[in-house]
Formats: sequence, structure tokens, C-alpha cells
Amino acid sequence: MTSKVRVRFAPSPTGNLHIGGARTAIYNWAFARRMGGSFILRIEDTDPERSTPENTAQIIRSLRWLGLNWDEGPEVGGAYGPYLQTERFASYGEMLELLKKKDAVYPCFCSPEQLAARREAALASGSSFIGYDRSCRNLPPDDVAERLSSGACHTWRLKVPLDHGPVIFDDLVFGETSFPIEQLDDFILVRSDGTPTYNYVVVVDDALMQITHVIRGDDHLSNTPKQILVYEALGLIPPHFAHLSMILGSDGKRLSKRHGATSVEAFADEGYFPEALLNYLALLGWSLDGETTLINAELLTENFSLERVSKNPAVFDETKLAWINGVYLKEMGASAFIDALIPYLQDYGFTRSGSAADAPGVLADVAANRSWYEAIYPLIAERAKTLRDVCPQIAYLFSGGKVALDEKSVEKCLAAPGAREALASSLELLSDTALTWELAPIETALRAIPEQLGLKPKVVFQALRVALCGNMVSPPLFESIVLLSREQTLSRIRNAQETTSF
Ligand code: GLU
Repeated sequence: MTSKVRVRFAPSPTGNLHIGGARTAIYNWAFARRMGGSFILRIEDTDPERSTPENTAQIIRSLRWLGLNWDEGPEVGGAYGPYLQTERFASYGEMLELLKKKDAVYPCFCSPEQLAARREAALASGSSFIGYDRSCRNLPPDDVAERLSSGACHTWRLKVPLDHGPVIFDDLVFGETSFPIEQLDDFILVRSDGTPTYNYVVVVDDALMQITHVIRGDDHLSNTPKQILVYEALGLIPPHFAHLSMILGSDGKRLSKRHGATSVEAFADEGYFPEALLNYLALLGWSLDGETTLINAELLTENFSLERVSKNPAVFDETKLAWINGVYLKEMGASAFIDALIPYLQDYGFTRSGSAADAPGVLADVAANRSWYEAIYPLIAERAKTLRDVCPQIAYLFSGGKVALDEKSVEKCLAAPGAREALASSLELLSDTALTWELAPIETALRAIPEQLGLKPKVVFQALRVALCGNMVSPPLFESIVLLSREQTLSRIRNAQETTSF
């Protein structure tokens, strides 16, 4: 193919950008980048009841958050605009005039009640064709002219060429796909209120925007033959089509809200990184080599091809996404981690100093104690999967001189024989102001206790862990002690001693 690749992502702003739509956007974008073509964003906002500017803004935010950039579309403009369908009605009107001139459409005066009754009769008779019965297709021209001039309510339907033969196209994912012409009725292009239908506007827009490849979900597969007929009626060559199989939940059903978070924003809110979601979605239905599980935007845009897109439905696996996210978390480094964590610290109202824990208070606290916050990172980097996971795991670092003690942990570790002695010795050692409050001296001092007391290390350190962190599964003990400060450590040990003085 010689013409420059032009692809589009064309969401209807009737809700959030969900991960199915995000994957379609990613594949279009990656294909455009790989082919040196253009990626266009077009907002299909013709449904006045369900489309809102807030949804459009939210979709744009989600695409930007994922790191996708478009060459033409809202916010960036372009030579083929406008990029909002509600601003393109003049084109739909002009193309309808063209179709009328070509005698490719006709007005239909049937009322919704008549259509419904005929449809029911067709169903009852067991007929295999339940589409429109074409009763207005051959009305006498005078009759049509009279009705139109008297303002009779009408839609415009496509005159499907009855001698067309099957509509065949070579889908770039599904291969040759064929639809018998008999199954296609004379569908409506323009409704009686003058608004154009999806199958009509999408063709006008794709044609005028010179789209070369339509890459979209396979829920549109059955629309494709209709759209091809509109191209043909306009005397235009259809673009290439590539349909993407759907994303299923773990129960094999189409992914929906029942399966939990499905919108990009919900994943962002859960503390997933855009790079991780992009990585996961890129490989959900496309593979680099059948093995690679970690891929960044650069590798994706250098290698994406439609040939490696799978025909089989993909199953969404949040555990795998979380694993990928954990990998990014492990690799991002302390500084980026703390920056990303700030909104979550604000959510939880955590401050080191216990100072005002409103959003500006948290921000100021992080700025004033940057290295302390960054020191949290190595404690958590191997353990957390998402940013939202992190806060409950580090809550103990923010509770001052007291920490809530988990009951089971108290029973198992603080009530164990030897625990009281272990706490007493730890308190004594850590109270010694000659002990520098740094990891190495603290660890050396505490590691001597088990032998001195003739106790198993586990008994000593689990007791101390519960006393300081509240439970048995906290991040590493010695590092935590350094972060807690001497004052808080001693206070927590004393507190645990009181609680366990039985
Ligand atoms: N606006 C349509 C949708 O959101 C997409 C149409 C298309 O890609 O052709 O499902």
C-alpha cells in the first residue's frame, strides 16, 4: 500500500473509557506509530441522551494518562476536522444529497407501529428475514414527491443492491469474512428527526478523514457489511478492516462491571501505573513473540503488527496485571515512588510528624521529610503490587508512640514464653543513648538478644515486630525501627509490655 496509514479511535462518550476501549486505542496508536502513519481521535457524540462533555473529557484524560498521543483530534486539531461528530452534520447532509442523486437511498414513510407489527408477523410466520420489508422502496415517484413536499414524517434508507451477492471483506485479524446480502435489510441512514445513524456517519467520517484501516472491537463485525454497502453507494473504496476479539472475565463472560474495576480511571485510582496497564493491555490479544510479558511503549510501537493479533477472545486476569504492576513498582526507584504515593498518603491522611494531615499538610510533610519517606520504598518495593496496597502496609509508620495490636498476633507472639524478656532486653538496649540510631548498630545490638536470653531468634523478633508494627507480617523489622525513631520505638515497646502484662 502506498498511501500513508491513517487510523482512528472513535469512542462514543456515553461512559468511562473501559479497558476494552483502551486496548482498541492502544492498538490503533501502536499501529500508526509502527507504520509511520497518523493516529486520529474522533468523538462519536451523536447520541444526545447518553453523550456528555464530561465523558469526553474523561476519555481524553484516560488516553493521556495511558501515554497515548494523537496527531489529529480534540485539543490538537488537524486538517480533517472537526473531530466531534456533532460538529459534522453538514457533511452528513451533503453526503445524503449525493446518495439521493445516485438513487442509492429512498424515503421510508412507515411508522414505528407499522414496522413493529410487520416484524412481529414475520417472526410469527417463522420467516428467516425479519428486517424491513422494503415496502417504501418502490413507491410511485409522484407519490413520494407529494408526501415529501407535504412534510410527511420519513426516514432515509439505503437501497441495498439485491443482485450484489455476498458482502466479502478480508479482515486483517479474522481473515476472509462473508455476509449473505439476503440478510441485510435496507437499513436507515437518517432518522425521521433528521439525525444520522452510526452506520452512516462512521462511513462519511472515515471516508472524509481518509482512514485507511479501521481497527475496532468485534462487536462491530456485523456492522461492517452495512458500512461497505454505504461506501459502495457513495462510489468509494472501503478501508481495510481489523476486528479485535472481545475481552472476557475469568468466568468466560464478556467483561463488565460485575467483574470489578473495568474503567481506566478505576485502575488509575487503584494505584496501577499507566505503563503497567499499557503493557498488560498491549499483550492482551497481541504478542511480541509468544513469551515476552514485559513491554514498554517504545518496544510496542516498534513491533506492533496486526498479524500477531489473536482471533481468540482474551481473558482479563487482574492477578497478572497486578504482577506486572509490582514489577514496575520494584523498578521505579524511591523518588518516583514517593511522588506517585502522595495522593494515597493524602487519602489516608498520613504524615510522619503527625502534623495537619489534609492534602497540603501531607505535601508539606513529604517535602520536609523527603529522605525519611524515600526510605520507606525499599521496605515495600518487593511486597506491594499497587500504590493503594501500600498504605495499609505502612500505616504502622504513621501512628506515633502507639500502634494498634492485632489480637491474633498478640496471642501468638506477645503471649509466647520468652516474649516479655525479649521486650525488656530490647527496651534496655534501645534506650541506651550510646547506640547510634542507624540500621547496622541497631541490628547488631538486637541480634545478640536471642543468645543472651537462650531464646529462638523467631521468638524475640516476632515479639518485637508485633510490639512495633502491630502484626506478624509487617515489612522488615530493623529497617522499620530506624524509621520509627527511638522515641516511638521505646514508647511502643512499653505499650506492648503493658498490654501483655499477664
Ligand atoms: N463509536 C463506536 C463505539 O464506541 C466505535 C465505532 C467504530 O470504531 O467504528 O463503539
